[in-house]
Amino acid sequence: MRDPSSDTPHYAEVAIDVPLRQTFTYRIPKNLAERAVPGCRVSIPFGPRKTVGVLVATSTATNLTSGTIKTIQAVLDEDLPTFTPELIKIVRWIADYYRCGIGEVIAAAYPFPVSMHSKNIRLIGLPIGIGIETLIEKATSKQQKAVLEFLKQNDADIGTRHLASATGVSESVIRGMIRRELLTVSETTKIRRPNALHAEADQAPALTAEQEQALNTIVHSMNNKGVPVLLEGITGSGKTEVYLQAIREVLDRGKRALVLLPEISLTPQTARRFVARFGDVVAVLHSGLSVGERFDEWWAVRRGERSVVVGARSAVFAPLSDLGLVVVDEEHDHSYKQSDAVPRYHARDAAIVLARQVGAVAVLGSATPSLESAYNAERGKYDCTYLRSRPTSQHLPTVRLVDMRHRPKDEQIISIELRTALEERLANKQQSILFLNRRGFATSMGCNECGHVLRCPNCSVSMVYHRRDRQLICHHCEHSEPEPSVCPECNARFIRQQGWGTERIVEMLQEDLPGAHIVRMDRDTTQRKDGHQLVLDEFRSGADTLVGTQMVTKGLDIPNVTLVGILNADGSLNVADFRASERTFAQLVQVAGRAGRGTEAGEVIVQTWCPDHYAIQLALKQDYRSLYDREIRLRRNFSFPPFTRLILLRAEGENEVRVKDLAWQLYRLLSERAKGVTVLPPLEAPLYRIRNMYRWHIALRARGHKSLAQLLDDSDVDALLTRPGHKLRVAVDVDPTDTL
Ligand code: ADP
Ligand code: ZN
Repeated sequence: MRDPSSDTPHYAEVAIDVPLRQTFTYRIPKNLAERAVPGCRVSIPFGPRKTVGVLVATSTATNLTSGTIKTIQAVLDEDLPTFTPELIKIVRWIADYYRCGIGEVIAAAYPFPVSMHSKNIRLIGLPIGIGIETLIEKATSKQQKAVLEFLKQNDADIGTRHLASATGVSESVIRGMIRRELLTVSETTKIRRPNALHAEADQAPALTAEQEQALNTIVHSMNNKGVPVLLEGITGSGKTEVYLQAIREVLDRGKRALVLLPEISLTPQTARRFVARFGDVVAVLHSGLSVGERFDEWWAVRRGERSVVVGARSAVFAPLSDLGLVVVDEEHDHSYKQSDAVPRYHARDAAIVLARQVGAVAVLGSATPSLESAYNAERGKYDCTYLRSRPTSQHLPTVRLVDMRHRPKDEQIISIELRTALEERLANKQQSILFLNRRGFATSMGCNECGHVLRCPNCSVSMVYHRRDRQLICHHCEHSEPEPSVCPECNARFIRQQGWGTERIVEMLQEDLPGAHIVRMDRDTTQRKDGHQLVLDEFRSGADTLVGTQMVTKGLDIPNVTLVGILNADGSLNVADFRASERTFAQLVQVAGRAGRGTEAGEVIVQTWCPDHYAIQLALKQDYRSLYDREIRLRRNFSFPPFTRLILLRAEGENEVRVKDLAWQLYRLLSERAKGVTVLPPLEAPLYRIRNMYRWHIALRARGHKSLAQLLDDSDVDALLTRPGHKLRVAVDVDPTDTL
């Protein structure tokens, strides 16, 4: 006879947050058999300690010898497993493709302490099934009777403190009544809803013909094979409105939607438009929330109480079931790639895979699509749809190039053209935004006598001078030192400042434009909670000029801004990266899009020391097509993505010689095993030393991802990558975007 219990799983595959690309097998004890389902968190012995893992699969058999298998000690999820099957699937893909542990991806997907709970509040009520008269008889004091009377009349449960103040009794009286079972306590979850969620309701406008066409393309994809849709539309062309109406369609079909926005804590305005349209069903997930707020939103999504999730990069892990649409706005944006920590995933690419896995449609929107996405559209892998004009009467701003070469001394930072334009805005009570991608006062400090430059002791970079704090700060490791009064090398008093950042610009403008109200938005002025919001509120409520880093380039929509000044358009051009031109172009177009969002025409002034560079020339004309054609030719000729795939290996360690040896050892092994993969010789990383770690790069290039993955799967290669030696490590970055 068949043993009915033989189908029930006996073993669990558990993911643990350790840097190993494997899961672990545990036995499921009989008493937990019902609750130990995929997606739940489990408490398990791991080596000498106890830890928490996530059960990702169950099975009835294992090929491990049963004596070595340990047993799950507890299931931590009460009713609902923390992770949905869909989420486990995308987590597995990310771990596999980006070559890290499933447990490491899960830790990024669910970044909360294990012990964390919803904020419960205790509500006091009357016991059910006992008549109020009986209770009043049992009551021994006037105060107790008053409490019972109050609850009877109000017919609703209430918090202890409220009940005490409403009836004028002390909380200890209430506690005594609970002990005597005259009152009951129930626990309920208080949802901590973030502020960004409050917005006036709005109505959908009628779409323009172009928008209608774009929406049709998306709906067509929903009804058919679900191919990704690339929505290429100039800034202010109404892409967001198309997303909103596509989401409406998805909700009407009983499905849910996910919207990824880059650095959404910087652009609460955009998030609010989703709340304005869909109200309480919207969850907003981003790093500006407190952990408690994020936790509550996460669980509200998990319980199915939200059907639209708007969030930054990590929102790709939102536990949404019945997903019908995934939008990636500004899909070209580099903040979608996590480069500095494991998992080094690209949220846009993960979103596309997620959509495919669950049968949803991915929509990628941008004014300046990444070459990768545009190339996919060209090859027919994506459907493409265009918005070429603005639905409002707003015109694209006029853009003026200012050649900064051979300027007199007082114009070396701010040209006379830009200064005049700023003065005009002041006179007309209009606002201006100035963009400079460097914070601090001076980029470096050095000695005029001996030439010594003050460098970070932990990193191979010079320290940036911050005047307000009178400090030199390393922008890579945050090391800081007080500003020296004499040169630490030769004791000379001639310390010289070089280069300029946002802090310096504000000071210059305050001298040049007396009476102007100038605010600064960069990492230094926005660190407090809701920092961005506070700075933006100050600007919106009547400041004249906003000076900021790339924080000011994204999504700002302030009608009274008629001038945008780009102080150094070349900043991102002179970086050793094959994407430098693409990035510069995208950044200029984005910043320019911040001007003229109201009724007045906008003007953009671009200061540059390389006025003839094609990325700058084409950005002036907002000519994406020409940029694409030119770049794609270069990429093809030099075998760069999207024609090839890259993996960057970074050997790191504190001992300079041993890191170098490791890099060469790795290189020799890789070259020996490579099939269809070009292994480029090791190079010192452009940022050679960071936080005391020396860094060497080895780049791998191939026609497709598969041959790269095969090379790294080689057991000797894998062994060297995962166990490179004492105090050494190798970071693996698949499809790298940060090559410094
Ligand atoms: P994008 O996302 O492409 O930058 P938005 O969706 O923010 O563009 O639209 C720019 C402006 O145009 C917004 O103020 C928006 O409210 C408005 N808008 C968008 N679509 C329409 C429409 N069909 N009719 C009227 N106004 C629209
Ligand atoms: Zn440093």
